[in-house]
Amino acid sequence: MTTVGVLRETAGRERRVALTPDGVALLRRGNLRVLVEAGAGRPAWFDDQAYAEAGAEVGSRQQVYDESGVLLVVRPPDDLAALAAGRILIGLLDPLGDPAPAEMLAAQGVTAISLDLLPRTLSRAQPMDALTSQANVAGYKSALLAAEAYGGFFPMLVTAAGTTRPAQVLVLGAGVAGLQALATARRLGALVTGYDVREAARADIASTGAAVLELASGQQTADGYARELAGEAATRQLAALTEAVPRFDVVITTAKVPGGRSPLLVSQEALAVMRPGSVVIDLGGNVAGATADTRTITDHGVTVIGAPNLASTVPVAASTAYARNVVALVQNLMPEGILSLDGTDELLAAVLVTHGGEVVHPRLRDYQKETR
Ligand code: NAD
Repeated sequence: MTTVGVLRETAGRERRVALTPDGVALLRRGNLRVLVEAGAGRPAWFDDQAYAEAGAEVGSRQQVYDESGVLLVVRPPDDLAALAAGRILIGLLDPLGDPAPAEMLAAQGVTAISLDLLPRTLSRAQPMDALTSQANVAGYKSALLAAEAYGGFFPMLVTAAGTTRPAQVLVLGAGVAGLQALATARRLGALVTGYDVREAARADIASTGAAVLELASGQQTADGYARELAGEAATRQLAALTEAVPRFDVVITTAKVPGGRSPLLVSQEALAVMRPGSVVIDLGGNVAGATADTRTITDHGVTVIGAPNLASTVPVAASTAYARNVVALVQNLMPEGILSLDGTDELLAAVLVTHGGEVVHPRLRDYQKETR
């Protein structure tokens, strides 16, 4: 019987766990043994006893490394060297962002599967779409974080002490996180506006009840995933946004380009003329001078929060969704815990990063060729 191991996360501030007790029960039904590192679920409020009651065994980190054929993580562990040849590591390994761990895993003979490479449009892949599940959690939290940092009410309130003006919230980037940020800010009573470079996102923004920001520069890409805007288009977009951004009390940025650089959308010039008390939350890496996991207040009172990993701060919801994604992947690709290396499976081909001592993912192989 294959053992599926669950490691405690080692990345700083990470509070998620790759498998919840509910996930254990699902894997046990598939005749898999589950071994959880003691304390792995504690930061997400899942204790060892809950795992044991769901049918898992609880052991030391060493035992998990020694006895597991398949290891589940959210992010790459900082003791990758402990993985022995032949093991399968599954997680959000971000090999396109940082290829070094993949090269190390290949050299160790570990098979690495990265959920962030999933072909998301494939209907079979949708239950496994961890990028979507985690972006949804992050978008929700970004609106709460903004409401907490903002000194006023989000809704219009009519009281004996007077009527309050509703907060004006702008969300830049209307993918999964951005749409959830819009919907959550609206539920809190704010007046919401969204913007995205993709034409198709206009209908998505409108479906949350938000207004669509019209930019003078106007450039929209065709449907599908966003591409990096070429130099002049990016400059025009930034200039138009620099004019629009200061009209808002709260700006949440979530814009990313898959496999590319995040665009700069909120410039120093825009920050300098925003009203004191305004709040900017940067999920996508789109704000000048924002630092990850840091709250800074500019000289004239604009709060800028760098928040690239907000899903980790809602650990119960994020871990529950992530565990379902991972269980779906394990059930799909290795029903008995054994990876069938069917070369024709487009899903497996997309997520397989290393195997048989080599980096096998085509985009990473190209990167290796370029850098050698
Ligand atoms: P993402 O996190 O990569 O990017 C967030 C948003 O930023 C995107 O909507 C993107 O268009 C936008 N963006 C990029 N550059 C920008 C710029 N310069 N200015 C403004 N906005 C910019 O995206 P995501 O949230 O992971 O996914 C978004 C896309 O993926 C959409 O096309 C969505 O429909 C699609 N998607 C499809 C599925 C599926 O088919 N099951 C699942 C999830 C997402």
